[in-house]
Amino acid sequence: MKKLYKALLLALIIGVASGCARQNSEINSQKEKEQVSKVEEKSDNKLDSKKLYVSFYPIEYMAKEIAKDKIEVVNIMPKGASIHEWEPSAQDIKNLSKSKMFIVNGLELEGWLDDVKTNLNNTEIIDSSNSIEKIKIEEEEDHDHDHDHDHDNDHEEHEHDHDHEEHHHHGEYDPHIWISPREARIQLKNVYEAIVKFDSENKDYYEENYKQLDKKFEDLDKKYEETLKSQKDKYFIVPHEAFGYLARDYEIKQVPIEGINSDSEPDLNKMKELTNFAKSHKINTVFYELGESDKIASSLAKEINAKTAGLSTMESKTKDIEDGKDNYFSLLEKNLEAISQAN
Ligand SMILES: [Zn+2]
Repeated sequence: MKKLYKALLLALIIGVASGCARQNSEINSQKEKEQVSKVEEKSDNKLDSKKLYVSFYPIEYMAKEIAKDKIEVVNIMPKGASIHEWEPSAQDIKNLSKSKMFIVNGLELEGWLDDVKTNLNNTEIIDSSNSIEKIKIEEEEDHDHDHDHDHDNDHEEHEHDHDHEEHHHHGEYDPHIWISPREARIQLKNVYEAIVKFDSENKDYYEENYKQLDKKFEDLDKKYEETLKSQKDKYFIVPHEAFGYLARDYEIKQVPIEGINSDSEPDLNKMKELTNFAKSHKINTVFYELGESDKIASSLAKEINAKTAGLSTMESKTKDIEDGKDNYFSLLEKNLEAISQAN
């Protein structure tokens, strides 16, 4: 009996042991695989671990002014591209996925971001709109339709509008926060905090730069408030619905020619509506977007005997920005000057 028992026990031990050995070797080879892929990832990642990605020009400006030469700030958008239209290529996403941080405007300005988030597991996404008091987008009602006009045309227009919406999705909130210096200060703080997180060793340096920059924006905010006091509640015809935060913060009113995504060229009805509005409010300036065509603004201005002037949305890097003749801050100053001269 004892012998049999011993034999059984032995068989059992051998069985268990060999099973374990098999398992162990499986685990080991699995570990090896993981290690290999980690090494591969690392060597692949190495190139970009020092790069801080940002989604568009205003954030690029903020990040560069704070980080200066300590961090390589990379704007994911290529030259000349505009934020409402541009979408990243597969290569752009690949590059981005190798970076450890990506600062965005948020509020779905980067409409493509949701679709690629699953590819950005190692990239921390910083939303610079954090703690901003958001403006909800009111769904635009149909243009002032005359009740007696042709219903077939009406129908076509609706389908047309619908197509546009499908191609250029917008979020629940107005994303144009950077156009108001007051909101820009909140973004600036968020960008600063992200940079410290990105590279905490140089915190003192970044803090100093941030404080200086924030002071400039604080002064500009005051200047906007002082200057626009005399324009309180006045209407301004702007190229697209990008000035909502500016209008709210400094108590003026925007009358946009195009919608929130700048993708809805006005039809005849809209032009008539704008013309009547401008005439009844004695508007003397129609704004166009600097760096874009002034055709629509010009024809409207002609209609109402007004002048045209440029406003900047900083949504793409214009030639003057590329050449260093203008920057985000100087363009905010110019916007104020242009608005203050209109009435
Ligand atoms: Zn816009």
